[in-house]
This record gives sequence, C-alpha cells and structure tokens, in this order.
Amino acid sequence: MPKHIFISPENRGAPHGPYAGHPGVYEREVCLRIARYTAEALHRRGFRVTLPSPHSGMAARVNWANRNGVDYYLCIHTNAGGGTGAECLYYNHPASIKANRLVYDRLTRLYPSQRGLKDYSHFYENARTRMVSCYAELAFHDNPKDTAFILSHERPLAEALCQGVCAYFGLDPAEG
Ligand SMILES: [Zn+2]
Repeated sequence: MPKHIFISPENRGAPHGPYAGHPGVYEREVCLRIARYTAEALHRRGFRVTLPSPHSGMAARVNWANRNGVDYYLCIHTNAGGGTGAECLYYNHPASIKANRLVYDRLTRLYPSQRGLKDYSHFYENARTRMVSCYAELAFHDNPKDTAFILSHERPLAEALCQGVCAYFGLDPAEG
C-alpha cells in the first residue's frame, strides 16, 4: 500500500495574502501551484496524493483526511508579519517534530532562515488531524526579497517539500 499524502494549501483567497512587489498575486494561487507541483513530485515517487478543492475549508479537509486513511497531512503556506525565510509549525509529538524538521531542513537548503520550528499544537490542522502533520511556511509574502524567491522557485520548493516527505518515510528521494 503506498503511503497516502494529503496536501492542504492556503484556502483564503484575495484580499488575503498579497505578494509584496507583485500586484494581483496572492497567497492562495501561489500555494496551490506549489501544492500541484508537490503532488506531481510525490506521485513520481509512488505516493498516493490527495489535493482537495482549493476553496474547501479546514474542517472538511481534516474530516476527509481522518476518514480516508491519510498517512501524512502537509499544509503549505506563505507567511506575513515581517520576517524572512521558512518556518515550520509542528504539533507537539515526536512524529510531527520529525516531519517538520525534515521539511525545514530541505527548505533552508534553498533559502536561508533563522526561524526554525515552532510549537503550533493549537492550529486546527495540527490539533485535529489524527495522522502526522507538517505545516510549512515557505517564506514571507510581505517581504519583496522573499516573494521574488518564492515566485522564481515554485518547482524547487515543491521538490524540497517532496524530499522532506520522502525522508520522513525513510525513502531515498533520488530513487524516484
Ligand atoms: Zn496561509
């Protein structure tokens, strides 16, 4: 049985998440594209992947994942509030800390960050998912240097996410 990965990109549309320096670009569309690339990369490595409707809510996503044998729940976001680089938000359980560390490690090979991992056990998609969860904030969409990086590295970011998932399951990402 292939491992089943559920990908949950940002679902709030414009005006949420405007991209600094890129009028008309918003978090949802960028995270959805990266989620699709991540799904492609995971498929190539033999995973089963579910990507929900872009407009579906968190409760529907989590309920579906909990009822359909999902092994790993991957949230994809870009950040705001002043800062730079990736951070990953774990549920306080060794499995989630491991999953987030492996993804963070791959993301920071692409773009520097000093932000590290943070305990966000209270986030709905961390608290209510019954499987391991990883909550990746790829970089800051209110920082023009970060948005330039994100928009020019959508496929490498997806590959980094995929490699983090592969590493969690002990798979060599090179053998895809
Ligand atoms: Zn978001």
